[in-house]
Amino acid sequence: MNELGSYLGGAWRNGDGPVATLTNPATDEPLAQVRAASGLGEALAWARTTGGPALREQGFRRRAETLGALAKLLHGAREELIAVAVQNGGNTRGDAKFDIDGAIAVLAAYAAIGAELPTGAHLVDGEPAPLHKGSKLRAQHVLTPRLGAAIHINAFNFPAWGMVGKFAVAHLAGVPVVTKPATSTAMLAHRIAELMLGAGLLPPGALQLLLGPAGDLLDHVGPQDTLAFTGSADTGAKIRGHARVVATNARVNLEADSLNAAIIGPDVEPGTELFDLIVRDCVTELTQKAGQKCTATRRILVPAALLEPLREALLDRLAAIADKTGNPADDGVRMGPLSSKQQLADARAGVALLARAARIVRGNPERRGFVGVADGVGCFLEPIVLEATAEAALDARAPFHAHEVFGPVATLLPYDGTVASAATIVAAGQGSLVGTLYADDRSYTTAAIAALSPWLGRLVLASEKIAAASLAPGCVFPVANHGGPGRAGAGEELGGKVGLAPYLQRTTLQGGAAELARLLGHE
Ligand code: NAP
Repeated sequence: MNELGSYLGGAWRNGDGPVATLTNPATDEPLAQVRAASGLGEALAWARTTGGPALREQGFRRRAETLGALAKLLHGAREELIAVAVQNGGNTRGDAKFDIDGAIAVLAAYAAIGAELPTGAHLVDGEPAPLHKGSKLRAQHVLTPRLGAAIHINAFNFPAWGMVGKFAVAHLAGVPVVTKPATSTAMLAHRIAELMLGAGLLPPGALQLLLGPAGDLLDHVGPQDTLAFTGSADTGAKIRGHARVVATNARVNLEADSLNAAIIGPDVEPGTELFDLIVRDCVTELTQKAGQKCTATRRILVPAALLEPLREALLDRLAAIADKTGNPADDGVRMGPLSSKQQLADARAGVALLARAARIVRGNPERRGFVGVADGVGCFLEPIVLEATAEAALDARAPFHAHEVFGPVATLLPYDGTVASAATIVAAGQGSLVGTLYADDRSYTTAAIAALSPWLGRLVLASEKIAAASLAPGCVFPVANHGGPGRAGAGEELGGKVGLAPYLQRTTLQGGAAELARLLGHE
């Protein structure tokens, strides 16, 4: 079977540790193998001593040009990459495009951001501030690329966007990357890395790929390194608490579990464009990538009066998708499988946990028989909707507030339509990546923004006026912050230029006003 190697220390090499087999989750067919790699300390050292200096020498603008060229490169390979995502990721063609086009979009966006940055070695941040009233002394913040490596550890659900998005930001900042995709869906990340490394656009040491487990990688972390992790809260906690990470105070950015909420305002009525948008968004978030999105809506807060029409409309639309769930290689299929047997087992266990506090109103977690595959083959879960009582919805200990089922699963939570109750329910999730507010009443929206924002990294505002142009909340744009407080990891990624921050050191230059102006070229 084809063995996929890691690219470490300037060469492609197969690992020498235990073997993992990558499969097609729709057919269970084995596709490739990876073996755990060693020599990870040397790989980090190569990044710091070879990749870092070469990148810093290039400056922001040149690195931005590289990102633009890489965007074109991946765009040219789009069809080939989509085929890999369908095969190893269980993606429909639409799911695959979402991941791959998202990756290309981040490269292009950071190429454009970088084109506006100065040519020098650092960024000047803000204006010089007098140290005190009447002082000739000034404090001026500057941002310089850190001298370590960017260590990127990604989740299985976005092998393209996850890897390339993190890379684009670190590269523009001037920091070399060692990237580790999740093993189960690593074929796509591997092919993208092959293309990027083979194009001759990157200086030696700017990008390394580690396939298989992280091994002893974190034992070699240094004080100038930045770790960016996306995955489960459990793994995130291990990484943050790793003895070497704690001892060196390497920077850590975590993106973890999230129980994202859709909050429907008390003024929404059936038959409106806004109502249709809610149904459309909920269906997209439940079924895109088979619900395996960190930004997918898991909790739907619905005013009690709207519960019945919403349930009816939602179940109607989901029935059509349930009938077309199966092998994404089949053109008629609208939802593919989960990414592995383990994910399927975890999702089924998660549904059983949620069902202790809410009743299942659509879907059978044990269903067999899907489009284009033999009975019992693949990792399929049909769309599942649960519904709680209004009383249970307000119980902060209820499992639907604490347990993220990473699949096509969401829970309807009826509430009394007040901002206070919406805030109680959203807060019970302990911090999320995104919330979506559907309302026309401006006073409700204003109060909800104040009450909900501290729990959210992003709040999508949808109303009747904007319904036609609104985009499903699970889509993350490079200009928007991606990250959320508490359970979501307390991280921040992307968000335009702000996203460079984890890879740059902020230093205050404190000195005479005239001298600082001369040094920084402001005269
Ligand atoms: P995971 O099991 O935590 O794995 C994530 C990554 O961590 C994988 O690359 C994994 O490698 C690696 N890993 C596992 N144990 C490690 C350790 N001890 N040290 C270093 N790395 C380690 O998560 P997943 O199952 O891939 O992803 C699903 C989860 O990710 C969901 O909970 C979802 O909410 C979350 N997620 C969050 C975001 C976000 O932006 N907030 C985005 C996507 C997904 P192996 O694959 O080799 O085990």
